[in-house]
Amino acid sequence: MTQEKYVAGYRAFLTQGKTERKAYEAAVRLLEKAGFKPLSGKKKLKAGDRVYRGYHGKTLFAAVIGKAPTAQGLRVVGGHTDAPRLDLKPNPLYTKGDVTFFDTHMYGGIKKVQWLVLPLALYGTVVKKDGTKVDIAVGDNPDDPVFLISDILPHFGKEQQEKPLKDAVAAEDLDVIAGLGDIEALLKEQYGVEKDDLLSAELEIVPAGAPRETGLDRALLAAYGHDDRVCAYAGLSALLETAAGKPPAKTCAVVLCDKEEIGSVGASGMDSTFFENTVAELIERETTCGARDIDVRRALEASQMLSADVCAASDPHFPNADSIGNAARLGHGPCAIKYTGAASKSGANDARAEFVAAMRRVLDDAGIPWQMGELGRAEKGGGGTIAKFMARFGMDVLDFGTPLLNMHAPWELAAKEDCYNTQRAYRAFFAASEAALRL
Ligand code: MN
Ligand code: MN
Repeated sequence: MTQEKYVAGYRAFLTQGKTERKAYEAAVRLLEKAGFKPLSGKKKLKAGDRVYRGYHGKTLFAAVIGKAPTAQGLRVVGGHTDAPRLDLKPNPLYTKGDVTFFDTHMYGGIKKVQWLVLPLALYGTVVKKDGTKVDIAVGDNPDDPVFLISDILPHFGKEQQEKPLKDAVAAEDLDVIAGLGDIEALLKEQYGVEKDDLLSAELEIVPAGAPRETGLDRALLAAYGHDDRVCAYAGLSALLETAAGKPPAKTCAVVLCDKEEIGSVGASGMDSTFFENTVAELIERETTCGARDIDVRRALEASQMLSADVCAASDPHFPNADSIGNAARLGHGPCAIKYTGAASKSGANDARAEFVAAMRRVLDDAGIPWQMGELGRAEKGGGGTIAKFMARFGMDVLDFGTPLLNMHAPWELAAKEDCYNTQRAYRAFFAASEAALRL
């Protein structure tokens, strides 16, 4: 696939997948088009079979069954499809002065001031008491209204400007203008949703607008939610290409999970039993004696994984954040991060050198540009991915993903060639011979 074709597909995925539920739906559409079937509908599995298993409409597993039984281990590319945003509170509507607002709660790590005076969209699902679901999506169609969080004008903003950036706006004031009229009545009229139905809803405020090419040379792509749809989509695309060929040596899988931005907690986060249960479901369908617990454990321990998540690219305006010589650079390919965490590697999955060496072999033999980096200068901060939750099973895990500028901002920047080479790298990992990845 050419870079141009790949990026066009990625842009479409981003445009359709503004939330974890929407990204899930977009991914399932691509899987089904490529002949993947729900795992629950399969009684037996054999090499080359294509299956997927979803969870809560948010977390998704998809696999192409390999020539070797899944019990001998999987190759996994795992990313996440949730992104920092503002969630509506259970009782979101309130009126102050003449304006009606949506009261919000932050989701994931954001710089609050970046969300002021920016066109916003509203997405989500309302579940009524009888179980019926109402989908809401406002702000991304050309005729849609958008939403906005107001800010004080510079003329009166002296007091605000003297505050530290983090105090310029209080989290409780990150409230979105819902309108001037009777918004409760409008919700009833347009969606059949009562005020109390909002108690059982997941409504998310995200930046409005589709991804845009950035710079005169169009080398960059600005988008909401690159973290981590850029790696999630790359993994998905690599799996679809794998599925189109002969059965791979090992079972190849992608996980597109939810809740990474709040610590991978919850039933749809990677600190749940979803992944191991799914591996058990695969093994169950490949044997005649059922999925014995020991077989599932052995499969997990024998697996190899790329934790497909973004990393910080060096920003020339903020050199103090960089570990010189160990900072990822835009346009230099996807970046392997041996350890994440903070300060003294606290909370890190520290990939073993043997696995890093195997990935060097695979990537260099496939002629894919890539780089090795660290997550910023020591003691500057830190971060984590789903790597440590997967490493818990004893498998080898290496963080490997696309470098971004202004990660977690409403609009993040990635180099288009890095997006493309991330997909090629995951593809090479899936396609590698058993010998190449033997440690
Ligand atoms: Mn991430
Ligand atoms: Mn993140």
